[in-house]
Amino acid sequence: MSLYPWQEKAWESLNIGNAKMHHAYLFVGSYGTGLEKLANTFASSLICSNLKDTKQACRNCQDCQWMLTEHPDLKIINNPQEESDSEYIPIEEIRNLKDFLTLSSHKKNGNKVILINKAENLTAAQEWSSNALLKSLEEPPENSYIILTTDNISSLLPTIVSRCVIVSAPSPTKEEARSFLYEQGYEKLSSQLPLFSNLPLDVIAHQSDSELFTIMINEFEKGRDFELMAIEPKWLTADFTETINLLQKWLYDIFLFKMTTKFHFFESKKENIKKLSDAADITKLLNLLKSVNSIKLISNRPINKDISFDNLMVEYRNVFK
Ligand SMILES: [Zn+2]
Repeated sequence: MSLYPWQEKAWESLNIGNAKMHHAYLFVGSYGTGLEKLANTFASSLICSNLKDTKQACRNCQDCQWMLTEHPDLKIINNPQEESDSEYIPIEEIRNLKDFLTLSSHKKNGNKVILINKAENLTAAQEWSSNALLKSLEEPPENSYIILTTDNISSLLPTIVSRCVIVSAPSPTKEEARSFLYEQGYEKLSSQLPLFSNLPLDVIAHQSDSELFTIMINEFEKGRDFELMAIEPKWLTADFTETINLLQKWLYDIFLFKMTTKFHFFESKKENIKKLSDAADITKLLNLLKSVNSIKLISNRPINKDISFDNLMVEYRNVFK
């Protein structure tokens, strides 16, 4: 699949092929917008030797064929998996960048491109890497491009950011998000868009949580008659942080309705939110929200999850008259 529909305008603004192109680009946004696809598509179009009218790579030329495995003029550095021992991009990789850019392209006047995904992992313990990268950014050889992606621009050294053209990765509108899910055959998940900041890619990525979410929300809806046993076996196997997030959003909507008669996350459940909101004691509700927030802060640490959650849910039941 090519770019996502909501990325088309941003794509045009990149002006690929324009003589005045910059040599360093920083793509910024949430990864759930398809940020990496935008940056990757950009990198391939700088390598392809027979661009389509849309300025995207043709996928047929020799360079495109080469990119299917490894292209000698394109270096992609992917951040190691979050779960792995090392959270950072290996220093040797960054050290080699300058050498890579200095070597001439395999074709005459061809481009050399470096793509660093998740550049937020360059800093912190790895100031060295950043400095090595900085050197390449300061003295870029001709026809060389460095492309970075990040969801956290403030974690990058300002000296890196200032040398890059910043491209904000666009998010879909509500309509675009809904029609994307529809086209991909995930129409039934569209009520979950508000839970994932209106990012359909995140909704799809979390679809295995969807069944659990539905079960939990169905129980939350019972308010005072909530039965812990009905969901306990399910949520114990689930990601605790996700469970707490879900509860927090649910409570937030009950609170929001009480204050403003509006919803944010659970439009599809408005009748029940309204009922619960009417029955809720505002002081108890606020106290529960506080408890949820403090559990959330420690939810990724080894805590006794069942006791924490059971206590929250006892408190939950007591919120309603
Ligand atoms: Zn091509």
